[in-house]
Amino acid sequence: MAAKILDGTKIASDIRSEIATEVKAMAAAGMRPGLAVVLVGHNPASEIYVRGKVKASEEVGIYSEQHTPPETATTNELLALVEDLNRRDEIDGILVQLPLPSHVDAKRILMAVDPAKDVDGFHPVNVGFLSTQRPGLVPCTPAGVIEILSRSNIPIAGREAVVVGRSDIVGKPAAMLLLNANATVTVCHSKTHDLPAVCRRADILVAAIGRAGMITRDFVKPGATVIDVGMNKVSDAAEFQRLFGSGLEKHAQREATFRKKGSTLVGDVHPEVAEVAGALTPVPGGVGPLTIAMLMYNTVKAAKMRRQGSGARGEGSVGARSVLAER
Ligand code: NDP
Repeated sequence: MAAKILDGTKIASDIRSEIATEVKAMAAAGMRPGLAVVLVGHNPASEIYVRGKVKASEEVGIYSEQHTPPETATTNELLALVEDLNRRDEIDGILVQLPLPSHVDAKRILMAVDPAKDVDGFHPVNVGFLSTQRPGLVPCTPAGVIEILSRSNIPIAGREAVVVGRSDIVGKPAAMLLLNANATVTVCHSKTHDLPAVCRRADILVAAIGRAGMITRDFVKPGATVIDVGMNKVSDAAEFQRLFGSGLEKHAQREATFRKKGSTLVGDVHPEVAEVAGALTPVPGGVGPLTIAMLMYNTVKAAKMRRQGSGARGEGSVGARSVLAER
């Protein structure tokens, strides 16, 4: 039986409308959340991401502003900008779009962001809050993975979860959230021995690797839930054939796009996995849309924690249930 497709676009849209309602109430109480995005230089991909974030903020009613220092901006100039944003009371979230130019000390810049305004959840203070199950700001993409699972009524507690990838941005925080939600978690990486066998243990398999279609059907236990975080641009015709060749009639739309644009966006999971998995996130339209929705969520949460003290640094658990349920 074909896997149930988990519709990330729909889930993200639900979250955004919940957030819009919340932002409206906060604004009426004189506490409109504010997000500042810092985009250094002219990286076309970063410009697209930032545009999406600013647009999403506007749609849910969050105040947003963009800072666009030139490519030549120094570490000290960027530190001064971050310090200024840290001081401003109407700014609840600060997002420094990566990558920064190579002459800039990116670690120093990210460390300078006030952890209470760190809506990317990358600051070591927030990493610590996550690993000790205290309320804090959780990285957006992994938080989105948990939202997809919980809103699709896929149980996590007591189940075997395997995360392929151990980056600070996706793999590690996804593993920590699953652990906090009481899964039995295995984290895999490029040195893992017999990766397919380890993956086949998973009831929930999260792929965050960055390799198009690497997770084939022999990695997947029949009926497992597969969350595909990967976003890979495929422009090679032979690679397209490897991924979609055996089921072109099912992928006619994608083939038409590939022919027209010369490329297509694919995940880390091979399309054939849909024949084995119980549930699967598509690419595009799976985890991707959740990332911006969770950024909006984090901005609202940061505003509440900092301005009202609600959900502040006390005890509690992050990831033990839907992160939105914390509110
Ligand atoms: P990184 O490159 O930082 O990490 C990739 C991880 O995959 C590493 O831990 C690496 O292992 C592991 N890996 C690489 N090759 C193999 C292999 N052959 N076998 C097993 N493990 C392997 O990537 P990110 O975590 O930043 O991103 C992962 C993917 O998710 C990318 O496709 C990215 O585009 C996508 N992404 C999607 C987002 C979204 O919004 N949907 C947001 C962020 C990322 P090792 O540590 O040993 O090198």
